[in-house]
Amino acid sequence: MENYIVSARKYRPASFDTVVGQTSLTVTLKNAIKNGKLAHAYLFCGPRGVGKTTCARIFAKTINCLNPNENGEACNECESCKAFNEQRSYNIHELDAASNNSVEDIRQLIEQVRIPPQIGKYKVFIIDEVHMLSTAAFNAFLKTLEEPPHHAIFILATTEKHKLLPTILSRCQIYDFNRMKVEDIVAHLASVAAKEGITSEPAALNVIAQKADGGMRDALSIFDQVASFCGGNITYQRTIETLNVLDHEYYFKIVDFCLENKITECMLTFNEILSKGFDGQHFINGLSSHFRNLLMSRDAQTVKLIEASDDVRERYHAQAQKCEPKFIFTAMKLCNDCDLSYKQSQNRRLLVELTLIQVAQTAQGEDVPGSGRSPRKILRPIFRQIAQSNPASVVVPNTQTPSPAPSPNVAGAPAVTAVPKPQTATGHVMAPTNSQPLRRNLTGFSILNAVSDKKRQEEEVAKQKIEKVPQYDSSAATTRQLNVKDLTIELKRFALTLSQDETAMASRFNNIEPTILESGETFEVLAENPVIQSMYNKYVPKVQAFIQQSFGNPNIRMVVRLSEVTERKKVLSKFEQLQQLYKDYDALVKLQKAFGLEMN
Ligand SMILES: [Zn+2]
Repeated sequence: MENYIVSARKYRPASFDTVVGQTSLTVTLKNAIKNGKLAHAYLFCGPRGVGKTTCARIFAKTINCLNPNENGEACNECESCKAFNEQRSYNIHELDAASNNSVEDIRQLIEQVRIPPQIGKYKVFIIDEVHMLSTAAFNAFLKTLEEPPHHAIFILATTEKHKLLPTILSRCQIYDFNRMKVEDIVAHLASVAAKEGITSEPAALNVIAQKADGGMRDALSIFDQVASFCGGNITYQRTIETLNVLDHEYYFKIVDFCLENKITECMLTFNEILSKGFDGQHFINGLSSHFRNLLMSRDAQTVKLIEASDDVRERYHAQAQKCEPKFIFTAMKLCNDCDLSYKQSQNRRLLVELTLIQVAQTAQGEDVPGSGRSPRKILRPIFRQIAQSNPASVVVPNTQTPSPAPSPNVAGAPAVTAVPKPQTATGHVMAPTNSQPLRRNLTGFSILNAVSDKKRQEEEVAKQKIEKVPQYDSSAATTRQLNVKDLTIELKRFALTLSQDETAMASRFNNIEPTILESGETFEVLAENPVIQSMYNKYVPKVQAFIQQSFGNPNIRMVVRLSEVTERKKVLSKFEQLQQLYKDYDALVKLQKAFGLEMN
């Protein structure tokens, strides 16, 4: 059987020029060697598989080469180079600190440091994963690292620079290795494939490069795996099968379905993806990346940020032409939100499906709540809300009871039952005390000044309505004694005269429970807070004129008093309201008995 060497070793670069994706760094090292300006300690940092150890080895070989060429590279022909290439050089010592991290290991290394090289000028000590050394080993090492013999050069390599002590960092020249670009990896893989006589599709190599996540060693390992599975012909389809990568075809399909509003097909496609064993989060992340690529492909300057083969880039570009930028933004946000809440979700499938539906809706130009595209919420004035929603049950405790029955027994007595009312029920009403905002509130003037001119005109009209007080006409009057029953009815009639803009006030007058004071010509209305009090006060002249006319008595006065806490009524539930009704009307009780009704 032929001696098989994995590609990562077989195609390990042997010179600085062949190191992939670290050009600036290798040029710097080469220049340092050419100019003879060598430091005694180097620190190579960066993710795994980006060429740290490879560079360290090339460096060791080059500085020991007896005939370096003009380019600053090793000759690969001298005795030293041959020894290096055959891995029998005594001038290079590698210590894997991950497994040899004790003081004893370091002591042995220090022993070696003292012995000068037999061939060549330098002994190079490479310590891999140097952050794994124990603290004691570090301390034992510090002295040697600071003042090594002139023939010794240390190259420390680590994936985690932040774990190193500052005392180590300050003694080294630091080189940061970058993650490799996908295109660099693809180019290298293509060259390896060519050398191995393997045919490959660029899209397949792209998938491998992306899976390797910036590490060449990983990329080459995956390449070997795929190559052996595909048997000399690496296709996109077989690559994604081997690597369990979700086909980008699905994303193109899903976006097309969304654009065509084919939600059913979206759901079926997602089901197909799940049935192939892919995770929902994996899918949604892929979809986010897809939208991101669509966005990037819209601009010639950002096209290069797409890590994909040229033909796939073309497809991104084509699909992006069909999408509104707003749709892409929103879809990205929706997918991102889905990803964020995925872990917490109890029903993850539903979450993804919901997101897909929302994306499809966005594609149709609809604003989706929570998508970040919904219209800005405008703060509505609180009184307007009360008036519109349910004037009788939210804040106004007095009006909570069913229409006050003209109760014959309480003529002149305070009609308000003294039930303590929770302070908080009115506590949340912000109460402006000056009259200007109040007048505005009456007609729905927003505190944000967000009303249209039309609204403002209506407001003016309403204002005039309030201020216009009819004169008392004695000829049309029939004098009646002021009493609670009639007064309540008259106030209801007054409520009917109010315009549509004044629904809130109309509702109040409709449900008001006035009290006639001792004089017999003055009636009192309770207001539960200063705001409502001044609202009533606005209407006093008009109400007074109305009541004077209907009772034929120009001396009738209306006063508004701020109620004591104890006078305020409890807000009743529907059930309690019903109970109150039963209490007030015997007929209802009879009805209930006659028909066998249940009270609920
Ligand atoms: Zn040489």
